Amino acid sequence: MIDLHCHILPGVDDGAQSLSDSLNMARKAVEQGIHKIVATPHHLNNAYENPKQLIIDGVKELNEALRVEQIEIEVIPGQEVRIHGEMLEGYETGEILPVNHTPYILVEFPSNHVPRYTEKLFYDLQMKGLIPVIVHPERNQEIVERSDLLYQLVKKGALTQITAASVCGDFGKKIKNFSLQLVDANLTHFIASDAHNITNRSFKLREAFGVIGQKYGNEMVYYFEENAALVIEGNHVYKEDPERIKRKKLFNLF
Ligand code: FE
Repeated sequence: MIDLHCHILPGVDDGAQSLSDSLNMARKAVEQGIHKIVATPHHLNNAYENPKQLIIDGVKELNEALRVEQIEIEVIPGQEVRIHGEMLEGYETGEILPVNHTPYILVEFPSNHVPRYTEKLFYDLQMKGLIPVIVHPERNQEIVERSDLLYQLVKKGALTQITAASVCGDFGKKIKNFSLQLVDANLTHFIASDAHNITNRSFKLREAFGVIGQKYGNEMVYYFEENAALVIEGNHVYKEDPERIKRKKLFNLF
């Protein structure tokens, strides 16, 4: 299994605070059946900067420590970029690091809204051959209220990644139901942990795939697993035509 989104690098953000935290997270990931994990420190969220080179160096060090500890997992470089108007410049000046140096960039929105410049920015990124992957749309207040915003972005080529713990119901029933509606409407392409630690923000990837398998069958589990593998290789991912979430369904949430 591959985890595309995880705060496992030590001492760079609100994830692992020390090498021992990172190693404990890695052990937990192995228990989950994860063999590759993308380290995605926050970039420009609060005070976190984590430019590209710092992450590359950190990943190298962590992989060496994992080898010494004989923990069978490979860490891959990535970054969770808080959306901002100068993303393209950030990419060109070498601050921004797409997943494993592929065209896929993990993009985080503020938790309560979708900036109005998003569509234009995503268009510009795509014109440069980059593909924005919106992380945890199910935890964005405006998207939950107006899912059409997400539909429009996906329709125009953005991809999305929902959080394993959301699928499991850890963020509440409303977010769980909305996550499943995103799956139903072909509005999401990846499930990842966004793990920050092994206590209150752990992996839950295996559990989430359990929920998905039970509701949709194993084919849907393979779909998500395969897409994660395609992304880290920089290949095209599988996607179906997105659909609008019907209003009636949305009302059932409340
Ligand atoms: Fe994150």
